[in-house]
Amino acid sequence: MINIVLFGKPGAGKGTQAEFLKKKYNLTHLSTGDIFRFNIKNETELGKLAKTYMDKGDLVPDEVTIQMLQSEVDKNPQSEGFLFDGFPRTLSQAEALDNFLESKKEKITATVALEANDEILVQRLLERGKTSGRPDDQDEEKIRNRYQEYNEKTAPLMDYYKAQNKFHAVDGIGTIEEITDRLSTVIDSL
Ligand code: ADP
Repeated sequence: MINIVLFGKPGAGKGTQAEFLKKKYNLTHLSTGDIFRFNIKNETELGKLAKTYMDKGDLVPDEVTIQMLQSEVDKNPQSEGFLFDGFPRTLSQAEALDNFLESKKEKITATVALEANDEILVQRLLERGKTSGRPDDQDEEKIRNRYQEYNEKTAPLMDYYKAQNKFHAVDGIGTIEEITDRLSTVIDSL
């Protein structure tokens, strides 16, 4: 089984690349953002709760997110591997994921980060906001708040995975195909 964490700031292109990688490596793609948005659309209790955080650009609390992620993994017992997109985003989530996988005699194979400069990404998100309908993409202040959340809570995960020798980074600026190729080179070398 290969289990990959796709890492990167909001707007770095994780979702776009995940679409290609999941097919190429036959992975189950789990995007916590997409799962939350699905729940919001269907007005579930989880969706109502998540919305209060997401609309402001805040992270959804760990307990809720971890439980949801674990239940999504458990829904795919036949999977040949997972592509985690948008999870983990905090140290507690990373530790919970390691423990959870260990309980299944599995582990994270590698973390691959898409790197890009903040100013480029903010512009990309504002552009995406024109068509995505996502409230968190439409207001620069909310976008800046997502970067603050990332810098405070998510960036420390780089050291967490580096300490396990599992951290890899690729340049996230280029064409979609170029970036898929860069990511594939890393995954093929694992
Ligand atoms: P982006 O990476 O562009 O910010 P996502 O779709 O991955 O978009 O996430 C959107 C929002 O969903 C986040 O700002 C956050 O509120 C919530 N979210 C997604 N994943 C997590 C997570 N692992 N922990 C907490 N909140 C999350």
